[in-house]
Amino acid sequence: MTNETFDFTDHSHRRYNPLTDSWVLVSPHRAKRPWLGQQEAPSKNDAPEYDPKCYLCPNNTRASGSSNPAYANTYIFPNDFAAVKLEQPKLVESKGDTLKNRLCKVESVRGNCFVICFSPKHNLTIPQMKLEDLTQVVSAWQTLYSNLAKEAREEGKPYKYLQIFENKGTAMGCSNLHPHGQAWCLEAIPTEIAKELKSFKKYKDQYGTDLLGDYVKMELEEKSRLVLENEDFIVVVPYWAVWPFETMIVSKSKIPSVDKLNDREKKNLASIIKELTIKYDNLFETSFPYSMGIHQAPLNAEGEALNDSWFHMHFYPPLLRSATVRKFLVGFELLGEPQRDLTAEQAATRLRALDSKVHYLEKL
Ligand SMILES: [Zn+2]
Ligand SMILES: [Zn+2]
Repeated sequence: MTNETFDFTDHSHRRYNPLTDSWVLVSPHRAKRPWLGQQEAPSKNDAPEYDPKCYLCPNNTRASGSSNPAYANTYIFPNDFAAVKLEQPKLVESKGDTLKNRLCKVESVRGNCFVICFSPKHNLTIPQMKLEDLTQVVSAWQTLYSNLAKEAREEGKPYKYLQIFENKGTAMGCSNLHPHGQAWCLEAIPTEIAKELKSFKKYKDQYGTDLLGDYVKMELEEKSRLVLENEDFIVVVPYWAVWPFETMIVSKSKIPSVDKLNDREKKNLASIIKELTIKYDNLFETSFPYSMGIHQAPLNAEGEALNDSWFHMHFYPPLLRSATVRKFLVGFELLGEPQRDLTAEQAATRLRALDSKVHYLEKL
């Protein structure tokens, strides 16, 4: 022990993530290590607007043999290599209290997977899209959510949760440059969502308020982790962020799911996504890779699951200090718990300082 006072920008501490009931180790003194990494030239995208070999470009033929229409803004089609399928044989459950049944639990899972092309233009990314076109993407998410909920209600399709997400960049395992996202619809509630729903309920039972509603209120007062704000949404580097420049978009008011966004909220969501991704690209003057996705109410949710859900999006980008230095979850992080050097407040300060209107490519 020393006589110094505790400094959150210098001394190691653990921060609690109330969404997933987990901890992250923060070692801010390590961010002061000198960085001698190379300076890279800004990366340009010289891909063509149309690629005859791309299975997502308009009019091209996909692996399944189907052809894409000459679509003008967004285009949704069932994934030709879906992770879950609608039809499969019934799983016969093994009965009885055996060691195998205690330790090796299993359940069948059906569903459907979709690909969402954000734009017919092969060489665009979200930050480069026009606001009107990005608003069309949000509309496509809404339509998909409403249609699948309806199919579950009226046709008995096994759909309980719709996970909308985007993997951008080869660093996130995305092999096709064409701007697109995915939507997986499952008859089970995935683990991360189940954990959050449990945390929302626990918080409400304890304090009588919404966890994310209170979180927005607190972040708007503190401002140190706030990156962007408009009438309906905020972007923050969450207090408990694991990835160096991880962010969350959270709705200011309680909106359970994407289909409930009104026209103004829809446009404001598209706008804040665009501004955030422009900042990301400007950070290291590269097309910034990430995995992002929406967390929202399960399809046809009722009661607590509906009342507790609060629309938000997570952005998990892997880059640490430059276009090529990425963070890996290895060693202590894999065996113990996640760890970061840069604090959430330091990351937010960096992101806040960047231009959110002009993309670096427009300046080259
Ligand atoms: Zn393409
Ligand atoms: Zn979440």
